[in-house]
Amino acid sequence: MSLQPYYWSDPMQEQFDVEIESILEANGHFHITINEPIVKPAGGGQAGDRGVLILGEKKYEFIDTILHDGHTVLVMKNSPTRGKGKAILKLDMTWRKAMMTNHTSEHIFVGAMKRKYPEIKLGKIWIDGFHGTVVLEGKIIPLEKILEIEDEVNGLIRDSISVTTKVVSADEVDESVRAREGVTSKNEIIRLVNVGEFDSSACSGIHVTNTNEIRMFKIIDVKPQDRNTHIEFISGANAVRTLAEIYNTVLTRKYSYPFEIEQLGSILDKSKTLQSAYEEAIEKILLLMKEGPNKEQLNEVSFWHEFLPGCDMSTIRHLIKELNVEEPSVTLFLTTGKKTNVIMWTKGMPKDAAYYIAEIVEDLGGRGGGSADAYTGGFTDIDNPQELFQNLIEKVKGRILE
Ligand SMILES: [Zn+2]
Repeated sequence: MSLQPYYWSDPMQEQFDVEIESILEANGHFHITINEPIVKPAGGGQAGDRGVLILGEKKYEFIDTILHDGHTVLVMKNSPTRGKGKAILKLDMTWRKAMMTNHTSEHIFVGAMKRKYPEIKLGKIWIDGFHGTVVLEGKIIPLEKILEIEDEVNGLIRDSISVTTKVVSADEVDESVRAREGVTSKNEIIRLVNVGEFDSSACSGIHVTNTNEIRMFKIIDVKPQDRNTHIEFISGANAVRTLAEIYNTVLTRKYSYPFEIEQLGSILDKSKTLQSAYEEAIEKILLLMKEGPNKEQLNEVSFWHEFLPGCDMSTIRHLIKELNVEEPSVTLFLTTGKKTNVIMWTKGMPKDAAYYIAEIVEDLGGRGGGSADAYTGGFTDIDNPQELFQNLIEKVKGRILE
């Protein structure tokens, strides 16, 4: 079948002699039509080839390839001035190889996804020399599950599986082949791309010949949208380089921080906690400046209660020593550092500190203990410490007023 494009049989050939048929200016770009189907035009969710056209000493870069009325058209920013004639076309092989690894890994990834979730449909895809995106329709797939499939894809890459292509007539295509709706009815011949026994799909794009050429497949973004899952990935040299960059971003901070790389997850969690504690602390400072301390008079007893985000227990103990509070009084502080802690301190009260608070803390799911004039307690997994504190204040107030 001589009409098959060259990139179907030998996607690694880099240089070709071509014949320029026409040059047209359109939308600020030049469209150079060549007579040979050797470069891959954009289509089917895949970007076109890139490269240069060489005329004598001069090189003209093309940034895309499109198909126009069955002709291969190179899209250029600058164009040779003369029309028809011979030229040498040299492909940007970095771009092409990246498209080949991105596209083949898309086949393996979507194939693995379809095995796990037969109900999903492959929606829009886009593949270029930077990355690939796929939309899996009909299901929101959790990130952890997608990362499990990523691992499976990398296993298949390491297994060095042959990727073969075969042109068959449309009626030979059966259910086991992944094909978009209408593909077998619209075309007489179908090109099958097989990743060993793992996946077979109808596709006219460019692929590697062995999965080990992909080297690495990495998911870089997952977004649920409506009932679909949008997934972005990279592969090949780009994936290896990106992973090294991210690792080095961490490594260069390892000694100045310092931390162990294995702790990265908890460090990010901690930074999120600190950020929200910081914001709450600022809010608290502003409130204290505007409204002063939260003190109320309950008969003779002065009751002082403050929510102190971002403070730890030792800071609070230190603060209490410095405070000069009147008698009789109850001072109740709640802190939200690593844990949600409560400290209560009494002065000149008829009963031990624990009497006013211990049962209440236990009822609210916390634990604690104390001496005659101090009680400390702690809570774990508190989503809304302010709400907890309001609750605590009301109940302690009840006890003081008994
Ligand atoms: Zn393909």
